[in-house]
Amino acid sequence: MIFGGLEKTTLIDYPGKVASLVYTIGCNFRCPFCHNPELVDETVETRYPEEEILEFLKKRRAMVDALVITGGEPTMHGKDLLSFMRKVKTLGIFIKLDSNGTEPGVLRKAIAEKLVDYIAMDIKAPLAKYAKTVNHPVDTEAIKKSVKLLMTSSVPYEFRTTLVKSLTTPEDLEQIGKEIEGAEKYYLQKFISTKILNPQFRRKTTYDDEELEALRVKMSKYVKFCGIR
Ligand code: SF4
Repeated sequence: MIFGGLEKTTLIDYPGKVASLVYTIGCNFRCPFCHNPELVDETVETRYPEEEILEFLKKRRAMVDALVITGGEPTMHGKDLLSFMRKVKTLGIFIKLDSNGTEPGVLRKAIAEKLVDYIAMDIKAPLAKYAKTVNHPVDTEAIKKSVKLLMTSSVPYEFRTTLVKSLTTPEDLEQIGKEIEGAEKYYLQKFISTKILNPQFRRKTTYDDEELEALRVKMSKYVKFCGIR
């Protein structure tokens, strides 16, 4: 695989672990609020072959507990992603995978082979509004399968939604709550309007702290834990 970015150390992307982080190139969504447009449109300039990442991880093994694989959408890389994860696992490193949930088959294989130790899946919208929100056709059955897979597997996971106020209403969140009811962890993420895919979204806002807290309380009815980031 070829990666579009490497962060040598992150303390915030894998709960409780010191991690390195790699970005995969390409995505099958076009979320207007996306923070990594150069990965989505595949114009990213600095590229890292997987051998370079593996060599880096070998040297850093004593200092980092984990690797976070984010994107772009990592699961688009299917077999190549799974092969890379197997190689990382031989180094004895934890793996967190970020995904938009469009490839439940890849998630299933990663879980079955114990290649992944934590999965963070974006819930972009209630199912009925998915395509509009991500600005791309969506197989919502695949999203449903991924949600069910995570909720029934033994791998720790979280769901999370980035909140652009004009895009995700409180009613949408209630519907999301019904669609992920019983989930372990759910995070409401503030939208930050710097470096985004659709420049028209620069003027958009997220909910203020008071509104977010009210939404957190509301969503706590549906999930075991709801947090704000
Ligand atoms: S925010 Fe949307 S467009 Fe950007 S990488 Fe994630 S799924 Fe793809």
